[in-house]
Formats: sequence, C-alpha cells, structure tokens
Amino acid sequence: MPEPTVDRKLLTVNPFSRPGKKLSPVKGVVVHWINNPGTSALQNRNYFEGLKSQSLNNPKAVFASAHFIVGLEGEVVQCLPVDEIAYHVGAKLYTPEAISRFGHYPNNCTVGIELCHPARDGKFTPETWVSAVELAAYLMKRFGLEPSAGIWTHHAVTRKDCPKYFVEHPEAFERFRLDVDIATGENPKGG
Ligand SMILES: [Zn+2]
Repeated sequence: MPEPTVDRKLLTVNPFSRPGKKLSPVKGVVVHWINNPGTSALQNRNYFEGLKSQSLNNPKAVFASAHFIVGLEGEVVQCLPVDEIAYHVGAKLYTPEAISRFGHYPNNCTVGIELCHPARDGKFTPETWVSAVELAAYLMKRFGLEPSAGIWTHHAVTRKDCPKYFVEHPEAFERFRLDVDIATGENPKGG
C-alpha cells in the first residue's frame, strides 16, 4: 500500500501543541471531528500552531493538537511526527476499555486524526472519508495493528461527543472500520 499523500506542515515545538516527547509504541489510532464546520485542514493546523503564543501562566491555556488533519477536499495535513505525543485525547477520566488497552495516559501511545466536516451535523464528505480510510489503513500497517482493535473514536476513550457523526451513527463508524480493514488488504472479501 502506498503511503498517502501528506502535506507535512509540522508545528513548532511548544508546550501547548507539540511537547516534543516521544510516543510509546503505538497501540491505536483515534479519530476526531474538528467541531468547526466548513474549516479547512490547514486552518485547523494553524489554530494548533497558534496555541504556542499562550502564556504558561494562563490557567485557561488550551493544550490541543493531533498528528493529522483530513480536510474537506480529502487533503491531509500532518502536524506532528508519528513518533511524538500529540494532545488529542487527554481527559480526567477514561473508559475502562481505553485504560485496559492504553493505560492511564492514552496520549502516550495513540495517533490522532482530526476530520473536517462541512456542517454542524458532523457528516464527512466522501473525499474526507476516502483519505481518512487510506491514512488509517497506512497507520494500521505501519504499526502492525488490526482495525478491529486499533481504530478508536475519541468517544470510546473518554465518552466525549467526538466525532459527533460517529457517536450518533455507530453503524457509520463500523463502516469506517470495515473500509479501513478492506484497505489494509487483510479482508479481501470485504463485507
Ligand atoms: Zn476528539
């Protein structure tokens, strides 16, 4: 499988979105929605980059990032190398399933993919879907993961309403996982 086409626009190392810490061996890929309808992958990457100008003394400082952002046209922007920690899934509480697979700090061993969406309902464009499947399949291969166990929603890790469309349409998430499975070539019968 070819490596997907990725626009590599790495964030500056900074405490709020690219801490520069090494990931432990990757045990999962977590998908998110960007929760900002109509915005592009690059705009959201630039938002993560802009977090660096916050003050460390600000108690309301935002810590956020993800390794990849898949845009409305299917474009993929990479914000962090896949061997560094991103701040995409941190929370005070994690689900028992997430703790059992990822331990007590899932950011340590997961790769985050943010998906853009045109509207509030969070539904993804066909272009976003195809690129996200291709990217997730590539990551499954690269880290030796099975889609059935290696692809997670943010919701499954922390119960956050993310990605909204997959939370409200669990069958769409199952379809996504199946598409990734097919794309890895390990399930040629499809479904
Ligand atoms: Zn999320």
